[in-house]
Amino acid sequence: MSIAAQLNRLKAELPPHVKLVAVSKYCPESAIQEAYDAGQRIFGESRAQELVPKYEHLPKDIEWHFIGHLQPNKVKYIAPFIDTIHSVDSVKLLQEISEQAQKHSRRIKVLIEIHIAAEDSKYGYNPYMGRLFLEKTDLSQFANVDIIGLMGMATYTEDAGQIRNEFAELTRLFTRLKRNALKENNLFKDLSMGMSNDYKLAIEAGSTIVRIGSKIFQTTNS
Ligand SMILES: *Cc1c(COP(=O)(O)O)cnc(C)c1O
Repeated sequence: MSIAAQLNRLKAELPPHVKLVAVSKYCPESAIQEAYDAGQRIFGESRAQELVPKYEHLPKDIEWHFIGHLQPNKVKYIAPFIDTIHSVDSVKLLQEISEQAQKHSRRIKVLIEIHIAAEDSKYGYNPYMGRLFLEKTDLSQFANVDIIGLMGMATYTEDAGQIRNEFAELTRLFTRLKRNALKENNLFKDLSMGMSNDYKLAIEAGSTIVRIGSKIFQTTNS
């Protein structure tokens, strides 16, 4: 199937309240253009040095999302145009995003990354530390960022029960923050979870943004 056909089949499955980020990391610009021509406008990339040339060459009405690990010293390259950064896992990064956004007189939407998978990872707050961070920090100091929600990745496994449990943990944390510490923040409303192999479970668990790459861009000849 073509990229356009895979994209359309996927979009037909998604509930209307779920936003699709088409993850185009490692894809050539021609593949992104094909998805764009089929109507997709939101794309996700995980490396700044790959994203910048794509931003420069591709249509300017694309909404670019950054989904990978981001080093604070790379923020300046994407700050002029990035719409949303899904992977904020330190105060230093949040501060840098706010400062760089301010330099360009813009606001950048961010999600706080929470580590929910069993796999070891250096990235993301553990749920407890993430909650403490959001409860105890004066977030108004990050004047040019809008904290719109949480992001997480489940373990890469065939065990649907485990994936459900991990997504449920993130949903519980999100709901708790929304009802308590972040209840004054009307923008805090998104839960970014779900990839090609687990987006259905993520949507059942309450996801509002899915980040899907291979199911759209990996084409086969059959
Ligand atoms: C690569 C990636 C995705 C998309 O993964 P697929 O399995 O190709 O859908 C989603 N989120 C993050 C953070 C990624 O790095």
